[in-house]
Amino acid sequence: MILREAVEALHIKGKKVIEVEGNTKIDKDRMLHQKVTDIRSWGKHFLICFKDFTLRIHFMMFGSYRINERKDTAVRLRLGFSGAELNFYTCSVKLLEGNANDIYDWSKDIMSPHWKPTQALKTLKEHPEMLVCDALLDQNIFAGSGNIIKNEVLFRTRIHPLSKIGELPLAKLKELIKETRNYSFDFLEWKKEFTLKQHWQAYTKKICPRCDIPFKKEHLGKGKRRSFYCNHCQRLYI
Ligand SMILES: [Zn+2]
Repeated sequence: MILREAVEALHIKGKKVIEVEGNTKIDKDRMLHQKVTDIRSWGKHFLICFKDFTLRIHFMMFGSYRINERKDTAVRLRLGFSGAELNFYTCSVKLLEGNANDIYDWSKDIMSPHWKPTQALKTLKEHPEMLVCDALLDQNIFAGSGNIIKNEVLFRTRIHPLSKIGELPLAKLKELIKETRNYSFDFLEWKKEFTLKQHWQAYTKKICPRCDIPFKKEHLGKGKRRSFYCNHCQRLYI
């Protein structure tokens, strides 16, 4: 997570919160004068850990943040430290009781060093009827994945989005899991370089670069999220 890396670079770990502001309804005073014990992320959750609780920030669709500067709009939560300031806007903010290690299973985070592909494989095998387009968006299996990742990974692995998990050969299932993590690291690198869009091969694209024929564009799966796929080179396993 780019935000986590940026905040880690501020070295606020071990520092106390000296200012809390914002229109969030959470108990802001709880964080005042408390020491940050860790900065973490789990999937799309950004976490600031304190001794007995964790601040969870989720940016949803329209959230944004500023570090050591302010936007000209109402701040949801501002945390001030000596020498650093974090500002969060239009995001979901929550205080979770207890230690983050007890709340989060780090092995489900596709970018975590604790990521366990064998666990993802096990969970997928327990859901043979699940469509791959839903599996790749399921935060309980691939925490951190999203709609861009889904489309690009299915294109890379040549799997049709309406394929059923239980019909994929084992090697294909393993490839899907591996490429989801691989693509997530590419995604992060490209995003940092501001070159993410130019690397898209399927997402928002009209023509399949492998077959030179039009992509299908449909809203598929439980969440009816946009899917871009090629009927010719992405195989339907049903
Ligand atoms: Zn194709």
